[in-house]
Amino acid sequence: MNQELLKWIRPEIRALKAYHVADASGLVKLDAMENPYSLPAELLEQAQAGLSTAAINRYPDPAAKALRARIAKVMQVPACAETVLGNGSDELIQMLIMAVAGAGRSVMSFEPGFVMYNMISRLVGVDYVGVPLATDFSLDMQATEAAIAKHQPAVIFIAYPNNPTGNLFAEKDIERIIKIAPGLVVLDEAYQPFAQHSFMSKLEHYEQLLVMRTVSKMGLAGLRLGVLCGQPELIAEIDKIRLPYNINVLTQKLADFALEHVAILEQQAASIREQRELMLQQLTALDGLEVFPSQANFILFRILQRSAEKVFEDIRDAGILIKNMKANEGALANCLRVTVGAPDENAGFLAALRRAMNNEK
Ligand SMILES: *Cc1c(COP(=O)(O)O)cnc(C)c1O
Repeated sequence: MNQELLKWIRPEIRALKAYHVADASGLVKLDAMENPYSLPAELLEQAQAGLSTAAINRYPDPAAKALRARIAKVMQVPACAETVLGNGSDELIQMLIMAVAGAGRSVMSFEPGFVMYNMISRLVGVDYVGVPLATDFSLDMQATEAAIAKHQPAVIFIAYPNNPTGNLFAEKDIERIIKIAPGLVVLDEAYQPFAQHSFMSKLEHYEQLLVMRTVSKMGLAGLRLGVLCGQPELIAEIDKIRLPYNINVLTQKLADFALEHVAILEQQAASIREQRELMLQQLTALDGLEVFPSQANFILFRILQRSAEKVFEDIRDAGILIKNMKANEGALANCLRVTVGAPDENAGFLAALRRAMNNEK
């Protein structure tokens, strides 16, 4: 095409690499932290019957009042806090960053960490500061305090547990960050169902704190729904960025229905937690791996004696897709990440991994 036209695209967009989602067709998906289970057939039928009455010729409720009330109850959002919904928490991250963007403003998070904080900052055109974690992936408080003092970030994102490392940061370190932060602090609790630790109740104590959750990792990734909780005045400002009908009518109905039956999702999370413990034991027992502790529904591990790329490919050739962190050096060097799936999927992965590690270098 005419290259002259492309000059109208902002340089920071042209410099970006598009977010890549691997093609999973025909493969067992253990790459994206999805819940392997569906709703029971009886509930699925009820859900589908409910959708048949959805008024798809009408715009959805712009404030999604019924769904927000359900979420507040199910997620135990304290009475002092207000909520705003996003089309996935990715959209909430975008709204937050758009709300603070401006000359001299910066967004801060930790590396290795969730790529969206960095990527959306660049899309929006605001500086991103990634503070390196300590070698055990805990918060390096000396580096963090220095970076906060230097950059005065408008917002600090803390994934709790962290992705892709899987660990929970120390509560006292996070409290310290909340206390010294000049701006907002967002606790991204995407993996709360697997970690069972939360800052939600602390919203009462810190007005600069925001807590973000998503239904994606709980078993509803296809619906695209996240929630941000915080002080009403702050949430009202962020809500101005939200496009009016961002949560479609089908998502509003289905998510409300699924959360009415949250006990089933909680049972699924409990069985995934059990499987995680089993997988951690089995992986730790293998030679040639460094396995990192996890409080999430995935496990990060380093291949010590073969190329991670080759191991990844061998596992994929065996019909199982995991995530290649694609790092030759640094904290994630030669690391792979596997999502905890159903028992048979996990067993298949372990067998494929054992074979791959014994293959020729
Ligand atoms: C998966 C993930 C999200 C994205 O959640 P969506 O609601 O699916 O957009 C947010 N934060 C972290 C840390 C994640 O790992």
